[in-house]
Amino acid sequence: MRRRDFLKAAFTAAALTASSPSALLAAARKTPQVDGTAPAAGSDSEFVDSHLHYLDFLQGTDGLEALTKAMDKVCVGRAVLFGMPMIKQWDPSAPQKPKYYMSNDSRCYYYSGTDFLLLKHLGEAPEHVRRRFLPFVCGVNANDMNAAPLLRRLLEEFPGRIAGIGEIMCRHDDLTALTYGEPPRADNPAMLPVYDLAAEMRMPVLIHHNIAPSYAREPLYLQEMENALRHNRKARIIWAHVGVSRRVEVLNLPEIADNALRRHKNLYFDISWLVFENYIARDDASLDVWAALLSRHPDRFMIGTDVVGHWETYPRNITKYRPLLARLSPETAAGVSRGNILRLVRTY
Ligand SMILES: [Zn+2]
Repeated sequence: MRRRDFLKAAFTAAALTASSPSALLAAARKTPQVDGTAPAAGSDSEFVDSHLHYLDFLQGTDGLEALTKAMDKVCVGRAVLFGMPMIKQWDPSAPQKPKYYMSNDSRCYYYSGTDFLLLKHLGEAPEHVRRRFLPFVCGVNANDMNAAPLLRRLLEEFPGRIAGIGEIMCRHDDLTALTYGEPPRADNPAMLPVYDLAAEMRMPVLIHHNIAPSYAREPLYLQEMENALRHNRKARIIWAHVGVSRRVEVLNLPEIADNALRRHKNLYFDISWLVFENYIARDDASLDVWAALLSRHPDRFMIGTDVVGHWETYPRNITKYRPLLARLSPETAAGVSRGNILRLVRTY
């Protein structure tokens, strides 16, 4: 199928979601089994992307074919791929259709259709494209006591297809402020059964949970994540961006991360998005500090692009890690750039 037709079919199907969910479900069920050991793409590549959004905040995408081409350009063999659990509302009063959650002051809300769109598109993609991706599911509200049952339902509807859970959106500065309801947090009673489910299914949970409010210098929300980590030691939690987001300016982040890793053996960090530019790669000295931290915990860190639905910026969001990786031993660099995430995901 030509790319334009591929996208047209995808968006037509998306538009039909509300009226014919059974058709979407049937197509999505064709998603093939995840094979974490598949040698084709990944084993001899430089990177595995551990944090990639197939869909943007309007649930749009450039599609899988274009994505694999972008990955090929920069030696990314495989990628953890998930949708976007939030959607930005287009208010009638807004003169322009928004593109991003911060485009205007309109609300955001939880959008569970994201998982079905991802699984449908993967189900329709050719085998050589499909095997590049490790699909995660994410479309639940972290404040909803039904979050774990809804995720379990998805795992049952798509047996053998899903490699992990996330990116679950908990505290997220402006995004939280723009979303109806109480701020979601990692230790919300609704999230605890999600960790139990992940442990039962032997899959990781990737969570965005700010370590502090904007402009706070102390990690005021660290305790919430620590409560989550203590709840079920068999649940492996990947804390996205080391808890950093826009305008999060905690002091001593490497020290805080080091101590948290020592206290919680089920904690992992992905260093995607702003934490890399704002903390890790600020200058040579900061790169040295973080390289030392990664070397002390060689199995606990992973890289990702956190690119959202459109792939023009994909290459530079993975090659940016090279100055950090160059400071690591070959073994540690291999773990951070590929092996650590592949060890965590569920394989079938
Ligand atoms: Zn993300």
